[in-house]
Amino acid sequence: MSKWMNLIPRPRSKFCRIKCPDCGNEQAVFDHVVTIVRCNVCDSVLAEPTGGKTLFHGEIVDILE
Ligand SMILES: [Zn+2]
Repeated sequence: MSKWMNLIPRPRSKFCRIKCPDCGNEQAVFDHVVTIVRCNVCDSVLAEPTGGKTLFHGEIVDILE
C-alpha cells in the first residue's frame, strides 16, 4: 500500500553556508532545496532547486553536516 514511499530518495543531506554575492550576508541553506532560497538581507537568489542537488549562486563558505 505504501509502495510510493520507496520512490522518495533519501540522500545524505546537509546545510551549506552560502555567502550572498550581492551583500556578503552568510546564510545556511539546505543542499537539497525544493524552492528558491533568497538572501534574508537583500532578497537576491542564493539557491535554486534543480531536481537533485541545489544550484548555489553564492560562494560556499562552510559545510555544516
Ligand atoms: Zn544578500
